Amino acid sequence: MAEIIRLLEKIYPDGECMLESGGDPFRLLVMAILSAQCTDARVNAVSEELFKRFPDPASFADARREDIEELIRSCGLFRTKAENLRKCAKMIVEEYGGKVPSSMEDLLKLPGVGRKVANLIRGDVFGLGGIVADTHCIRISGRLGFSDGKDPLKTERDLDPLVPKEKQSAFCHRLVLFGRDVCSARNPKCAACALIRLCRHPSPDAESER
Ligand code: SF4
Repeated sequence: MAEIIRLLEKIYPDGECMLESGGDPFRLLVMAILSAQCTDARVNAVSEELFKRFPDPASFADARREDIEELIRSCGLFRTKAENLRKCAKMIVEEYGGKVPSSMEDLLKLPGVGRKVANLIRGDVFGLGGIVADTHCIRISGRLGFSDGKDPLKTERDLDPLVPKEKQSAFCHRLVLFGRDVCSARNPKCAACALIRLCRHPSPDAESER
């Protein structure tokens, strides 16, 4: 794993989140909730108008669900997401003094927030680390041989002891980029992959060329 971390750092020096929240914790939380079954590019595009209209937790909490729905319609699951965003903002205002909480326990109480989003927030906002077991992380960890490639919680638990806390957030952001560029779901480019000698399950074609 240490070698894989090093290689990914070399290929993707930045290792930053693709969601353009401008460093605002609440906005990152909103965007992470919107990103379920939606591309980061779409979330970034939709968020510009959304935050012009509702710039902070208080304005989301006071919003009509229909007004949020209208602005996030193209993100998919827009009814559920709008309702979650309103309730989540209300809870942040009423129970956390308008600030996004940092503990896993508190984050998981927020509507629309599961472990993936909670770990993203803990890592990117609070510097506490966290394995963000999204589709790329799960798939690539399975192929590399660190986990089962299926279960998000297992992936998180398998990777957590292997990746130093302070590197976990950037590592997961790099996996997203690597998953898009090289180790894609349908057609991994194993023959051109910098990690192939460390990979437990490369595609059979590439295996024969090793
Ligand atoms: S060798 Fe193939 S399956 Fe393994 S990490 Fe690289 S692209 Fe993914």
